[in-house]
Amino acid sequence: MLKRAPVPPDPTAAVDAASPLSIRDMTVAYQDLAAIRSASVDIQPGSLTAIVGPNGAGKSTLLKAALDLIPRTSGRVAFWGRPFGAVRRRVAYVPQRAAVDWDFPATALDVVLMGLYADMGFMRLPGRRHKEKARAALARVGMAGLADRQIGRLSGGQQQRVFLARALAQDADLTLLDEPFAGVDAATEAAIVEVLRSLNQEGRTIVAVHHDLASVTEIFDHVVLMAGRIVAAGRTAEVFTPDVLETTYGGRLSLEAFPDGRGRPERLR
Ligand code: ADP
Ligand code: MG
Repeated sequence: MLKRAPVPPDPTAAVDAASPLSIRDMTVAYQDLAAIRSASVDIQPGSLTAIVGPNGAGKSTLLKAALDLIPRTSGRVAFWGRPFGAVRRRVAYVPQRAAVDWDFPATALDVVLMGLYADMGFMRLPGRRHKEKARAALARVGMAGLADRQIGRLSGGQQQRVFLARALAQDADLTLLDEPFAGVDAATEAAIVEVLRSLNQEGRTIVAVHHDLASVTEIFDHVVLMAGRIVAAGRTAEVFTPDVLETTYGGRLSLEAFPDGRGRPERLR
């Protein structure tokens, strides 16, 4: 049973205009199968928020539907009280690595420059200023020497860093990342965490779909738990409890979800 689980926002209430991402009563279906039912959640401004839940919980769908990348069946989404189209420059998105076409003929620098498209003229020709900004972003993620490498020839960790650099170059107030640590080595994970922390310390809001339950409390101050719906959301210290995890993962507890294989991440005890 849920004890002390925070009450999610009332689905009939107005979106929270102070929230970088406020979702009300959002349902998203593929064909006629609902992947997310009536999700309502307010991402807290300035938070470092994890989205966790079992495979198929609708985490990627939540991000994509919020960003108008896939259609919503119903519901409302606002970024600082405004539609995505009005604020897209302030929002960066790092897709799941598996969802990117790595055969696309682009260099690391090209990919980072894509984050600056909104800032270029309609011909989308990068100027010196754009290239300097993109190279600085690559340097910040330790990729300065690989700017001209084809993205398909980078390692998984390097590819993830390139997309993080693209988000950095964009100078976004809200960055949404889908499993940034999936398939990366420990050094890359540490580098990404450091960049996310420093962005967060500048007052920017970070939301990341995260797979490793054992590190949630260490990295994230807020957490959203999903299982085809929003199970709970709030401060990690308050909502990331064994009871809430039990409700979220239910019979679907897996070794993948709990890397220590003992059914509970160690830090929860
Ligand atoms: P998560 O990111 O939490 O693993 P997803 O958002 O990817 O979950 O998927 C949620 C549900 O929607 C799953 O049941 C998945 O099979 C389904 N789904 C995701 N993408 C598609 C798609 N393009 N077409 C049909 N069903 C999909
Ligand atoms: Mg996903």
